[in-house]
Amino acid sequence: MYKIAVIPGDGIGKEVMKATINVLDSLNLSFDYNYADAGDECKEECDEALPQETLEIVKSSDACLFGAAGETAADVIVRLRQEMKLFANLRPIKSYPNTNALFDDLDFMIVRENTEGLYKSETEEYTDEGAIAKRIITRDAEERIINYAFNYAKDNNKSKVTGVHKANVLKKTDGLFKEIFYEVASKYPDIESEDFYVDATAMYLITRPQSFEVIVTTNLFGDILSDEGAGLVGGLGLIPSANIGENGALFEPVHGSAPDIAGQGLANPIAMLLSAEMMLRYIGENEKADKLDNAILTVLKEGKVLTPDLGGNANTMELANEVKSKL
Ligand code: ATP
Repeated sequence: MYKIAVIPGDGIGKEVMKATINVLDSLNLSFDYNYADAGDECKEECDEALPQETLEIVKSSDACLFGAAGETAADVIVRLRQEMKLFANLRPIKSYPNTNALFDDLDFMIVRENTEGLYKSETEEYTDEGAIAKRIITRDAEERIINYAFNYAKDNNKSKVTGVHKANVLKKTDGLFKEIFYEVASKYPDIESEDFYVDATAMYLITRPQSFEVIVTTNLFGDILSDEGAGLVGGLGLIPSANIGENGALFEPVHGSAPDIAGQGLANPIAMLLSAEMMLRYIGENEKADKLDNAILTVLKEGKVLTPDLGGNANTMELANEVKSKL
């Protein structure tokens, strides 16, 4: 029995979560769901965007499914990442049919370091001249994320890992990243390794995205490249993500609470469904994850039941029920 924390959150988070749990219910999983509150509505009701009780539920679970938080996203998701020490952010870039994907043959993973780099807010400060931010690169954190990327490649039949940096300019911080990248690579002789500058990578993602299998990079570069990746394979309604830590993991769609379409049944549940699929793989339920992926693929290929963002007129639950019918 797996303990799964479920945080629907705000806006369309609630709708896509309900639709996703409805689909998971058909997979005969041994899941004990623990629902918890967080986000804008939670803050209005109990004065806190992320109550201690929610944090306890997440910490005592095997994994967490997260919908979306609105204005309070930084207080909720950024804090959850810190409290849970979720060091790896994973963004799969995969093309599905009948979507707005720019290429129909993409399937690679972006592995982003989630804990340091330029995004340590306490290292940003005003100065007399303006403001300054420090870029923190530690051997431990970079070794951990690069090892994660090579292990991911090994476990998922990927043959190559690309390290992305700017070591020609950031000679010390990214010089160290590049050095560690090849130290780790030498422990995986069966996996090809290559490294590129981040600016070149941004271009290759447009000119030859098919050449990537696993990309590993630091926090800010990963943030930017993963949104570029999202742009390659269609709209926000399709992009899942995972945040992995040593003692827990959180799975969430990349989109937010989308207040403009909330409460109308217009939200595409696929990003949340694909996030749940990533959770199934994380806990080792690969067969059920494959089943779910095939069902989503079939529904998209048939193109008969699609939400408005994909050019259809089905609502959130109708699309989910269609996926369910293909399981
Ligand atoms: P937040 O403040 O919570 O981040 P937002 O509206 O600024 O909300 P997103 O929720 O990421 O940002 O959404 C941006 C736009 O993309 C939405 O206005 C919506 O039209 C569209 N969108 C996002 N997610 C979906 C989805 N699952 N299905 C359909 N459209 C979506």
